[in-house]
Amino acid sequence: MSTLRVAVVYPDLLGTYGDTGNGIILTRRAMSRGIAAELLLCSSSEPLPEADLYCIGGGEDGPQVLAADRLRADGRLTEAVERGATVFAVCAGFQIIGGSFPDAAGRTHGGVGLLDVTTTKGSGPRCVGEVAVDPASSLGLGRLSGFENHSGVTSLGQASALGTVVAGRGNGAGVAVEGAYAGHVLGTYLHGPVLARNPDLADLLLRWATGRTELVALDDAAELGLRAERLASVGC
Ligand code: GLN
Repeated sequence: MSTLRVAVVYPDLLGTYGDTGNGIILTRRAMSRGIAAELLLCSSSEPLPEADLYCIGGGEDGPQVLAADRLRADGRLTEAVERGATVFAVCAGFQIIGGSFPDAAGRTHGGVGLLDVTTTKGSGPRCVGEVAVDPASSLGLGRLSGFENHSGVTSLGQASALGTVVAGRGNGAGVAVEGAYAGHVLGTYLHGPVLARNPDLADLLLRWATGRTELVALDDAAELGLRAERLASVGC
């Protein structure tokens, strides 16, 4: 591969929760290993560029609808996944890449359909707070830490759960699971930005996007310290 292209999708619409940091972290972790990498901040007013790894962040209900409509009309994210690109989507981004999600009035709105999941309006209080997740063992990750803030709740179709909820709500649809993945498309409710707390998740995405099976180890003492501190705050 030449230069790894990391695209942050529509930070002008989906930048509320700081998830653009995920794209910065992925690019830095690649470059720290001598892998040439480029960060593309992709405005919703432009066609989506070609990239190896797309990051989609969280946002409010209104901009979320605009982003989903724009992505569907653009069509390039689906084409990229068909070519083998990796997608990492957080909260509103997770809901957008599923089949459907509710708008602010509770009406069902179509998603991009990259993951077989469906989001509906939750009946209980908004899910807000720290989350701890034990990832599916096939992913080879340690316990994940993140912060959730959502009213939509997500049910899984054919997609696999990212993991089991140990603290917090996660997908919130009555089963204690969090996130979803299929192939190299992964969605989660975890903000933080989540990759600042969970460097092994960042490296999983980098392995998917680069095709490398091994990555040089980095000094993650600060990141792992942050993860341990946040997990301890919820007794994990
Ligand atoms: N608007 C969505 C919800 O509340 C997503 C929120 C977010 O991205 N944090 O469910």
